[in-house]
Amino acid sequence: MYKFFTPSDLFSDTHATIVGDDVKHIYKVLRIEIGEKVIVNNLQGTEYLGEIEEVNKQQVNIKLLQKLEINNESPLEIYLFQGLPKSAKMDLIVQKGTELGIKEIIPTITSRVDVKLKGEFKKLDRLQRIALEACKQCKRTLIPEVKEPVEFKEMMEVLMEMDLVVVPYENAEGYGIRNMVSQVNSSKIKKAAIIVGPEGGFEEEEIEELRSKGAYIVTLGPRILRTETAGFVCASLLQYELGDIGGKF
Ligand code: SAH
Repeated sequence: MYKFFTPSDLFSDTHATIVGDDVKHIYKVLRIEIGEKVIVNNLQGTEYLGEIEEVNKQQVNIKLLQKLEINNESPLEIYLFQGLPKSAKMDLIVQKGTELGIKEIIPTITSRVDVKLKGEFKKLDRLQRIALEACKQCKRTLIPEVKEPVEFKEMMEVLMEMDLVVVPYENAEGYGIRNMVSQVNSSKIKKAAIIVGPEGGFEEEEIEELRSKGAYIVTLGPRILRTETAGFVCASLLQYELGDIGGKF
């Protein structure tokens, strides 16, 4: 069954309307017909079973049949603080992060970040669109939020709200996720931050500051991963150990 996303202000008690690019896609590519059942998501995590009632070139009207209780969000909320990389790497990070169930992606300016942010971070709209497209594909209930970039200092404040802070660091000397899991009370962890360095890695002082605030500094193995790989690997391991990709007991 196809799933569509449309903002909550295009929902009434009985109907949802789809406008914009999806309309043409619906009648030209998917060739969905009147009466066909679809799922419609209000971009805020609520989903309905619906039935196509009307299709024209401007809009598609969907009659809502039933609110769905489906929720494929992980019980572990992962906040990825990503040392801001160059070029289009953030596109990949947002797309794969969405599939992996990450809740928020926060581009972070650490001291070795080599990207000039001319005032406002221009790519935010584009990244948010990539997250939405990835949600359609992986049928995720909630769209992850891509935040405005934060400075290392601001990040340190946000970390206070986390139950767990994990920092992949290539010089972590044999202490890994498995060691960390054996030292924490897994059932108490709902919000976890992952902090990944940019291409040039972290400064030693940044690592020491994070460590002094209780962050777990972990290795992801003896090979150096690219910055865009490290977040996926770490998120996958946390979802496996504390989230929803390892199956049920
Ligand atoms: N400064 C290093 C590598 C930076 S890789 C160098 O150039 O040699 C970018 C980021 O990916 C790092 O800051 C770290 O967060 C993460 N990373 C890469 N490989 C890793 C590994 N083997 N273990 C843990 N973290 C790793």
